[in-house]
Amino acid sequence: MILLIPGPVTTRAEVRAAMAVDYAPWDDDFRAISRRLRQRVCSLAGGDPVVHTALPLQGCGHFGTEAALRSVLPAGGRILIPMTGSYAERMGRLAREADRVPIPLVVDQNRPVSPAQIGEALRNEPDVTHVGLVYSETSSGVINDAPAIGAAVRAQGRRLILDAVSAFGALPLDLAQQPEIDAAVFTSNKCLEGLPGLVFVVVRNDTLLSPGQAGSWSFDLADILAQAQGDGGGSFRFTPAAQAVAAFDVALDLYDAEGGRVPRLARYRENAHVLWQGMTDIGLRPCLAEADQGPIVVNIHAPPDLVWSLPNFVDALKRRGFTISNFYNTVEPSFRVGCIGNVSPDDMQRFVNAVDEALIELGVVIRRGN
Ligand SMILES: *Cc1c(COP(=O)(O)O)cnc(C)c1O
Repeated sequence: MILLIPGPVTTRAEVRAAMAVDYAPWDDDFRAISRRLRQRVCSLAGGDPVVHTALPLQGCGHFGTEAALRSVLPAGGRILIPMTGSYAERMGRLAREADRVPIPLVVDQNRPVSPAQIGEALRNEPDVTHVGLVYSETSSGVINDAPAIGAAVRAQGRRLILDAVSAFGALPLDLAQQPEIDAAVFTSNKCLEGLPGLVFVVVRNDTLLSPGQAGSWSFDLADILAQAQGDGGGSFRFTPAAQAVAAFDVALDLYDAEGGRVPRLARYRENAHVLWQGMTDIGLRPCLAEADQGPIVVNIHAPPDLVWSLPNFVDALKRRGFTISNFYNTVEPSFRVGCIGNVSPDDMQRFVNAVDEALIELGVVIRRGN
């Protein structure tokens, strides 16, 4: 079965094999893996080892975003969030429930956020200290230009929290060149093609609040940093998903073997292109113009035919060896297909053929509206 969802992704057998072992997380051999991973991740993010630290946290991406919000923004602090889609909305909710104050900025969800719009919004909001940006908005498939938006934030003397979860490993990130970024968040199970269970927040050591100010011990990155500095960076605070940690180390080896970020992005771009073009060729309508379409996830308008049913379509694709999302996050009905993971343009072409067959099997005749 090939997973074509925007995370967790299809992984290589070598990655999954690392799970078939018992690990003692506090043993010195395992601590060496943890320490190495943190260094690798910091360097992949373009971090300066003196200024930045990669802090690992157990669990999913949202846990990392919550930890970042709580650990760089004081209670009552105001954060401007361009409402790019459901991941931006979630960031707003995480902030609000942590007693931080999200200031939503309405933007066109089908286009990248404009740096000029951010600059103008910040000029009108002098009390806002931070901007919260979703780099790759997984609900729409749009990529926001994080370096250009970061420059607009920097020009206004403000700070940035970056949800890079579905971007990191494929899209560029160079923290040393973006000193306005207080925290960048990403997980093991998206473009880095590891297994779920692990999230990293790369922080600037000099802008973290003091331990205790997060208002949550579990999500206090300053406390996690203190622990990391105390034990030489080799252990998690509390029990990690040890198998996912070990598998991530293998995933990073395979990432390096592929040639790193640039070839990986090129493969994903080609996947997205084959998919976007293939959907068009079989009479379906992608939600975005190809120029605005990012390489991570492609949304396709649901066929307007009365017999269309997303659950039946998902089942028909599963019978053909592909799993896609059984929900959508766009305003109009759509289906979404991930282009990331250990999948190739050939897989995408086979998927296009499977979609064509599935629509015929389900009796969907009208494939696109106007
Ligand atoms: C996947 C994703 C997350 C994290 O999702 P979890 O289910 O919490 O791991 C956060 N932001 C974006 C943009 C994502 O694509």
